Amino acid sequence: MSTYKANLAIYNSLTGQKEKFTPLHDGFVGLYVCGPTVYSNVHLGNCRTFISFDVIYRYLTYLGYKVRYVRNITDVGHLVDDADQGEDKIAKKARLEKLEPMEIVQSYTVDFHKVLNQFNNIPPNIEPTATGHIIEQIEMVKAILDKGFAYESNGSVYFDVEKYNESHPYGELSGRKIEDLLSNTRDLDGQNEKRAPLDFALWKNASDEHLMKWPSPWGIGFPGWHLECSAMSTKYLGKQFDIHGGGMDLKFPHHECEIAQGTSANGESPVRYWMHGNMLTLNGKKMSKSTGNSILPEELFSGDNDFMEKAFDPMVVRFFMMQAHYRSTLDFTSEALLAAEKGYNKLMEALATLEKLEAKESSSVDVSSLVNSFYEAMSDDFNAPILVANLFEAVKFINSVKDNKATISKNDLALLQKEMNGFVTSVLGISAQQESSNDKLSPVMDLVLDLRQEARINKDWGTSDKIRDGLAAAGIVVKDGKDGSSWK
Ligand code: AMP
Ligand code: ZN
Repeated sequence: MSTYKANLAIYNSLTGQKEKFTPLHDGFVGLYVCGPTVYSNVHLGNCRTFISFDVIYRYLTYLGYKVRYVRNITDVGHLVDDADQGEDKIAKKARLEKLEPMEIVQSYTVDFHKVLNQFNNIPPNIEPTATGHIIEQIEMVKAILDKGFAYESNGSVYFDVEKYNESHPYGELSGRKIEDLLSNTRDLDGQNEKRAPLDFALWKNASDEHLMKWPSPWGIGFPGWHLECSAMSTKYLGKQFDIHGGGMDLKFPHHECEIAQGTSANGESPVRYWMHGNMLTLNGKKMSKSTGNSILPEELFSGDNDFMEKAFDPMVVRFFMMQAHYRSTLDFTSEALLAAEKGYNKLMEALATLEKLEAKESSSVDVSSLVNSFYEAMSDDFNAPILVANLFEAVKFINSVKDNKATISKNDLALLQKEMNGFVTSVLGISAQQESSNDKLSPVMDLVLDLRQEARINKDWGTSDKIRDGLAAAGIVVKDGKDGSSWK
């Protein structure tokens, strides 16, 4: 296993290259992922990013690293234009629904946790909120001001991008050039607090009617969205840490600004490996709440949506997400989900078969190299689809052994059982959720169907139909066949 730890390569968005992963502190990894802004239900696109990083976290842990995984909750400061203009997204929702902002935050945080739990995501080790770290954010603004990279204006504090760019390349992550950025900005749009259009808010003054606001050295206000991630990652992972992740759409301006803030406050670039997950698309377009081109996980699990013809189990959806590398886009279609469902069932059946295989003298295939291929796939920038393909090579072999067309030795059987289960359950996070709920229901259903059978024998059609209709209402379909009744 240690050779795979040594061989882990990560694509670093900052350098545009796959690099050998070397953590700052041997054996430990600091991982920060931008969390959701909790003003609406998370859609499947959001979930893809969080599932991608869950698999990354799981594999690092599987390799034996001790990972501190921090993922924030954005509960203030994210404005509707994703920059310095407009209302706070949460405050706006609170105003529309006539609720307290913290009621909005609470309700969508609960939803977020529920959905990620349905997808079998492991919770982060620390889940800090922006409102819980106002003091740290104020301290960071002070540090940036002290270093001369920010200025105060009318109770707000702005980051001075051009000043920073004199000594550090602003745009290094997103590949943007400051001259191009400048030529693309029009005037100041009436934002006369700013000295220059590229400057961004570290702290904003709040008007009287503003709901979420705190005292600061610059007056009553609230922190900028980019600042919270810098303040919280520094607090829990240090001035420089190993991996920072998020969706591709956060590269600019959010992550670019994080680099500028961290570098100017702490004197070093905050992150060693920047990782960005690609988008989930629907009808070929980015899944996004604001354009209405989105599906909620609940709509998919219940089958109640316009896009899919049936309901899908969360584990099938998770398995579907593994069909594309995290840096590629993934298109959400009914056909792809149906194919994923077949693949998922086949994989879970093979895992059950693997537990019952009989060992022989020797193996007819090289099981160690099969297992090595699992590690190789994931150590090559977390290539889950290649891992899945390699797992299906193992499935083929398992089924051949079952059919007495191949053999496996005792040691190899133990190795394959450990690593197949490890990669499917611990690394991909795929569990036999469908089976386990059906397993629990099975004895109850045997009893109910026995009672129905008795009613039928007694020609008590009323009771028999009542049982069938009652089960249908609970989503269970009973089929009567030659060999008795079955259910689904
Ligand atoms: P937000 O709450 O808007 O900040 O988004 C939370 C996370 O979801 C961010 O990391 C986004 O990059 C990510 N995200 C948003 N839309 C998609 C999508 N269609 N596919 C994948 N990730 C997305
Ligand atoms: Zn962030």
